[in-house]
Amino acid sequence: METVTTIDAIRDRVTGWRRAGQRVAFVPTMGNLHAGHLALVTEARRHAERVVVSIFVNPLQFGAGEDLAAYPRTEDEDARRLAEVGADLLFLPQEREVYPHGRECITRVEVPEVSEGLCGASRPGHFAGVATVVAKLLNIVAPDCAVFGQKDYQQLLVIRRMVRDLDFPVTVVGLPTIREPDGLAMSSRNGYLSREERARAPALYRELGRLAAAVRAGRRDWPALEREAAAGLASAGLRPDYISIRRADDLGPALPDVPLIVLGSAWLGRARLIDNLLIENS
Ligand code: AMP
Repeated sequence: METVTTIDAIRDRVTGWRRAGQRVAFVPTMGNLHAGHLALVTEARRHAERVVVSIFVNPLQFGAGEDLAAYPRTEDEDARRLAEVGADLLFLPQEREVYPHGRECITRVEVPEVSEGLCGASRPGHFAGVATVVAKLLNIVAPDCAVFGQKDYQQLLVIRRMVRDLDFPVTVVGLPTIREPDGLAMSSRNGYLSREERARAPALYRELGRLAAAVRAGRRDWPALEREAAAGLASAGLRPDYISIRRADDLGPALPDVPLIVLGSAWLGRARLIDNLLIENS
């Protein structure tokens, strides 16, 4: 696997592959890779002859007071693991390569509706930061397909909407969440948890599972169910940010007889955990 740091180098390699008739799949990440990220790379391999992965801790998607400075950076180990799972090219740009005029005055991509509420309410500007960097990365790499995790479900919908609205010629693939054996969704931020917090962290998955089971069983008193799940999180020692039952296709308010999703976010020590479960045939 080759590692490059410049836009010119990425374009040069991808152009060469295209000339040889090869398809290109792309997996954008912020690094500190775990089995969830590696599953995206393995999925990407199924869609294309060549796989490009980026590692860029995008400052634009972090709010003031968030964990930009503390975000774990483990590029050497990440590159080793990516080579093992068969990535062809790692794009590891410096901030000035991505934001040459500085990050304050960059042209931004705002995705309406689906960016609002849930994580968008707790993290103002976050999804504009995500959409902007993903738009740039898609223009830099120009892949045939790009693979994202359903763990960040709202982010996946933001990207799908942006790709449709702005006509990016790319297929967006979403992959189910990869979990630890006790159900906790894998996340780079799980490394912030103390041993004692780590033992409590699966409560988020557990409460979402209970909530999903109640909805599947036919309960329609959704606000009461959300309150019960939030109380369950609090009694497990987590500080709920939101617990919500929504429509799966656009995250609008839940309705009977459409596919639904339960989503939750909670603070545990320094970590803000997020997770979700799809409810088919609700
Ligand atoms: P991040 O490095 O956190 O920006 O994530 C990069 C990509 O990996 C995003 O598409 C995430 O949704 C995806 N991802 C993160 N954690 C998981 C997981 N546990 N399972 C599947 N995909 C994940």
